[in-house]
Formats: sequence, C-alpha cells, structure tokens
Amino acid sequence: MSDPLFSVKDHVVLVSGGSRGIGRAIAAGFAQRGARVVITGRQQDTLNQTAREISQGESTVQALVCDVLDGNRIEEVVEEIVGQYGQIDTLVNVAGINQRKPAIDYTEDEYDRIMGVNLKGAFVVSQRVGRHMLQRGSGSQINISSLNSHRTVSHLLPYALSKIGMDQMTRALAMEWGQAGVRVNAIGPGFVETDLTRKVWQDKTMEDWREANTPQRRIGKPEDMVGTALFLASPASAYLTGQVIYVDGGMTAGRMWPFSA
Ligand code: NAP
Repeated sequence: MSDPLFSVKDHVVLVSGGSRGIGRAIAAGFAQRGARVVITGRQQDTLNQTAREISQGESTVQALVCDVLDGNRIEEVVEEIVGQYGQIDTLVNVAGINQRKPAIDYTEDEYDRIMGVNLKGAFVVSQRVGRHMLQRGSGSQINISSLNSHRTVSHLLPYALSKIGMDQMTRALAMEWGQAGVRVNAIGPGFVETDLTRKVWQDKTMEDWREANTPQRRIGKPEDMVGTALFLASPASAYLTGQVIYVDGGMTAGRMWPFSA
C-alpha cells in the first residue's frame, strides 16, 4: 500500500486464531501488504498449511501452536516473537468458539469452555502482549467481537456474554493503556461464512431470515473483515481507541420491514 497513512508494511502482527476463517483472512490481508505475520491456533498441521498458503514472496508467515487456554504457552509465544522480530505492533485476538443450544441445557463445562476461550483466553493474550506494548510505548490491539454484543440472537447465551465481556475489556484496556500509546479496539463481525457457521446457513429458513434482516442482502465473507483490521492497525486510526466497529452488512443498524416500500 503506497499511502503511509494506511500502511502496515513491516509491522509485526500476531493473529491469535489465525489458522482458519476470519483470522486466516485477516492474516493474509496483512501479509499481502508487507507485514510480518505470526498466526497461532491449536493444530500445527492446519497452521503450517495456512502459513504456506498465505505467505507472500519474502514475507513468510510464521505458524506457532498456542492454545489460548494455556497462559504459559502464550507467554512463551510472546517472548519468541519479540525475541525474533524485536516487537509486536499489532495483536488481532480472533480465537473463538460457539455452541448453540437453549440456555436451560448448557452444562457448566460448556459454559466454562466458551467463556474460557472467548473471554479469558482473549484477556490473557491481550495482557501478555500488552505488557510488551506498554514497555515499548506503542501498539494496537484488535479484538474480534460479534454482532451478538450489540443484540444477541437466541440460543447463544454464553457466547453472547463472552462477546459483551470482550467489548467491555476493549473499553477498559483502552482507558488504562491510552496514555502509554497502546490502542485497543474491536471489530464486531455480522454473519460470516466460516467453519463455525457454515452448517447453520445451509438451512433455507435460516438463510432467508438472514437475507431479510441484512440491509446489504448477503452473508459476510472472512475477507470483508480485512479492511477494518488494516485501518485499526495503521496510522489512519491513530486517534481511535476503545471502540467497537460492527462490520455486518448493516444488520445492527436497525430492523428491516418485511416488504419493500
Ligand atoms: P473458525 O473458522 O471456527 O476459526 C476459529 C479460529 O479460532 C481457528 O483459527 C481456531 O484454530 C482458533 N481457535 C479456536 N479455539 C482456540 C483455542 N482454544 N486456542 C487457540 N485458537 C483457537 O471461526 P470464525 O468464524 O473464523 O470465528 C473467528 C472469530 O470471529 C471468533 O471469535 C468468532 O466468535 C468471531 N465471529 C464469527 C462470526 C461468524 O459469523 N463466523 C460472527 C461474529 C464473530 P484451531 O481450531 O486450529 O485451534
């Protein structure tokens, strides 16, 4: 990208949960623009394949196994990246899971797992990377929240709680770290077709409901998240922190009438 205002060239970017879906697309978007990208996830094979596929010429994407439920491993990964590249300019906190069922049926283990990965895991990654960014006096963190933090859809209670928690984490960290030069923002994706959601959108009733309620009348693609992530990492957003930007085809803007005027 030639305009320095929007450039992420040579930035060191950690995408936590970058092996598949939205994280993969964001990692590829940074790599295409000359950033030095590290992706993490739980499976070395998937990570290696993704890293090979999204690496760009001299810009080799690095793949490191890191489960966000493992605080010690997160610490090691941060040290490894800082040791190798000297810095982390941008963290994209993507790792997340979901499970749909009536609130009455969730087991405690299911609840703990969703909150553990989506909220506690994201916090621990933010904190460990934050320590380094605060020491350095600069950095941008981008949390991948959800339209469920705006208004939830039914049968997703722990997921919705984890995402509203993530939004408050975004605001709280922005307040604590703003003076030290570290910005924290979130992207709230609308409905995006990935492994996490593909099955739901194969159902015609669900597809019709989604289309009828999305002003832009289409499902999101993982690549739709890239522009906002680049913006939030680049100097163009230098005075922007503590915000949640919904990238959702307009779904959170309001409610659609069931007919055209
Ligand atoms: P996805 O295709 O299932 O990808 C999830 C990613 O998270 C994978 O890279 C996965 O890697 C990683 N991950 C899961 N558990 C992990 C753990 N314990 N430690 C480290 N990495 C872990 O899902 P997606 O749709 O791209 O979702 C990505 C994020 O966007 C999630 O936070 C989700 O809540 C959010 N989001 C998605 C949508 C949507 O419609 N798709 C909408 C709103 C928000 P491995 O499985 O290889 O470990």
